[in-house]
Amino acid sequence: MRILMIGAPGAGKGTQAARLAANFSLTHVSSGDILRGHVREQSAVGRKVDGYLNSGTLVPDEILLDLLRDPLLEAGRAAGYVLDGFPRNLKQARAAHEMAEPLGVDVQAAVYLDVEREELVKRMLARAEREHRSDDRVEVIEQRLALFDEHTRPLIDYYAALKRVVTVDGARDEDDVTRSLVLELEKLTLD
Ligand code: AMP
Repeated sequence: MRILMIGAPGAGKGTQAARLAANFSLTHVSSGDILRGHVREQSAVGRKVDGYLNSGTLVPDEILLDLLRDPLLEAGRAAGYVLDGFPRNLKQARAAHEMAEPLGVDVQAAVYLDVEREELVKRMLARAEREHRSDDRVEVIEQRLALFDEHTRPLIDYYAALKRVVTVDGARDEDDVTRSLVLELEKLTLD
């Protein structure tokens, strides 16, 4: 199974992606985790992307595509993947398609975790207390939500046109969201 998560920051993408990966034995590929790993290690890529992560702006597409190509194709050839945080805009979605389609490892379903804005802000502020992420600050949160609306939300229509969107109410308890997701994904007939 090859799926991707679409959700505003704070919608629970990371949590649900990890649970779906465990449930369906898939590889969880998180662009944010990969980028934060590079920043922690202070690699060449890490030094390049640090500023973008801190300010909550999007890292240039070319960097993401270079970082994600191998994990995506590798996982696609194995049992499948759950993409979390990538693609983040239409350009990345098209590039991912061009990369994966010829190898038969294109995305089969895009999960949209629908959560209203007030709840998203509440969750990110709570996460700031727990994890001290540099981008969970009020000004940066606003910026990330605006970027989601402008660049990432159009992906819902993009995948809907391909009849590949599964929308789930993400505002409920984590376990309820996981149960709905598993049920919905099991209903799909995937090749
Ligand atoms: P996330 O953990 O998915 O919320 O990502 C944290 C930060 O990493 C984002 O605010 C961006 O700065 C960067 N990032 C993660 N994924 C992408 C992507 N696909 N394209 C551009 N920037 C990204």
